[in-house]
Amino acid sequence: MNFDRIPLSRRNLLKAAGAGLLAGGTSACSSQPQAKAPIGVVGKDGKRVLPWSNWSGNQSCQPNERLVPRSEEQLLDAIRNASQNIRSVGSGHSFSGLVPTDQTLLSLARLRGLENINPETMEADVWAGTRLSQIGRKLWDHGMSTINMSDIDTQALGGALATSTHGTGKDLGTLSTHVTQMRIANAAGEIIECSADQNSDLFHAAGNNLGALGIMTKARIKTDKAYHLKEHSWMMSEQEGLERAEELRDSHRHYEMYALPHSDYMLGIAIDKVDPADIPENQAEPSGDAYEAFRMMSNLIDYMPFARSWLVNFGAGGVEPETRYGKSWEIFGNLRDIRFNEMEYTVPAEVGPQCLREILQTIKQKNIPVIFPIEARYIKGDDVWLSPFYQRDGFAISCHNFHDKDYKKYFAAIEPIFWKYDGRPHWGKIHTLAAKEFAARYDRFDDFLRVRKEMDPDGRFLNEHLRHTLGV
Ligand SMILES: Cc1cc2nc3c(=O)[nH]c(=O)nc-3n(C[C@H](O)[C@H](O)[C@H](O)COP(=O)(O)OP(=O)(O)OC[C@H]3O[C@@H](n4cnc5c(N)ncnc54)[C@H](O)[C@@H]3O)c2cc1C
Repeated sequence: MNFDRIPLSRRNLLKAAGAGLLAGGTSACSSQPQAKAPIGVVGKDGKRVLPWSNWSGNQSCQPNERLVPRSEEQLLDAIRNASQNIRSVGSGHSFSGLVPTDQTLLSLARLRGLENINPETMEADVWAGTRLSQIGRKLWDHGMSTINMSDIDTQALGGALATSTHGTGKDLGTLSTHVTQMRIANAAGEIIECSADQNSDLFHAAGNNLGALGIMTKARIKTDKAYHLKEHSWMMSEQEGLERAEELRDSHRHYEMYALPHSDYMLGIAIDKVDPADIPENQAEPSGDAYEAFRMMSNLIDYMPFARSWLVNFGAGGVEPETRYGKSWEIFGNLRDIRFNEMEYTVPAEVGPQCLREILQTIKQKNIPVIFPIEARYIKGDDVWLSPFYQRDGFAISCHNFHDKDYKKYFAAIEPIFWKYDGRPHWGKIHTLAAKEFAARYDRFDDFLRVRKEMDPDGRFLNEHLRHTLGV
């Protein structure tokens, strides 16, 4: 996916205008040193414990303890000796309230790396604290690639597997579906191993565990032979994008769309394996950050809301097609340095384009002030109990707004449309559902709760958000 490299021609004009407006709004700066209170609280050991915040800044907390064990044994000791609740954190890329706690915040950032990389079985063991970006690079040295990847690759493996993190591809499931074994520490401080044949209930629950079953320390993942990718992106009309969605999905290994609210356009991105011999020697330079261009356009629109539709069409109409090539991990990993908040629901694949059309119409009809592109992806169904793709192929629709713009009214207007199409929310993104609604959407919800109770009878791994969403 290469949305951050789209050549938004005419963007310099918008950028200059947006930058000018921003500069005009900057308040006077002072060089006087300001006395500031120390950040954080003093922990049990007398050391300062820093507050925590997620990537977009919409979730934050002040834990009274932070733990970063150096080994599985240290982790198990910490759990056995814990006198309060423990929440695990990966890289803080979830938008929902999965992580915040005022008690112990535990990170596996020191338990990272790959082991037992086996090009014969095409499997590798990955510590849960490993960032996804490290996996593809390391596998490449052994002639292997990840089967798929999410939009970005900065998440920790443990965090990604906790929420069914996915990429796109009609025949490709979430990252959890590439896992064959896991090691999870329960509340008694014991490691429980699971796979499709061993502790299989735990395995089916753990593919979307929300950090509610315990702390996952390591996973064995299936991989593919090392491969190169060709990514092609092009702008088409919204009408064409919606009508050709299934055809394009079926003719590419990965296909996704970016619909541009208030415009008549949609961007298609198709990614396929390519023979390295077919990669041109001189690749065109990537053309810049389209998210940044949208940010500038959004600033401009704040001052001229009446021109919203015209401006977005003007920018989108100038987008040229672009192709880039690279190793699998180079093409998969996008950079997102414009922050945003996000709601994502997955609806059954067959009604996906219809649901997306209704969302785009609603934004226009209600004149919702958002221009942030809406991402839509196809993902293969699975048998992970709380996966949004449980027993059905899905079409995931992701609505965003810039982190400093109001997303609540926008998401409130769109969420009922997802419900109408039997949508299931991404557990790591913003939604307003509680246990009752989840129970109605997931046949194995009660089974998940049973396994949770076996792993953690006293709810030591829960926080307020999980108690609300799981009804514990
Ligand atoms: C810019 C951006 C792009 C994104 N792109 C995608 C995308 O393409 N596809 C997609 O599906 N999602 C995407 N997401 C969402 C993201 O992948 C998920 O929210 C993911 O769970 C975040 O992983 P993390 O490592 O940051 O975990 P955190 O957000 O820190 O934690 C998430 C959950 O994992 C649990 N957890 C963390 N480590 C462990 C462990 N070792 N054992 C047990 N539980 C653990 C936590 O307790 C928590 O419940 C994106 C998010 C952002 C901000």
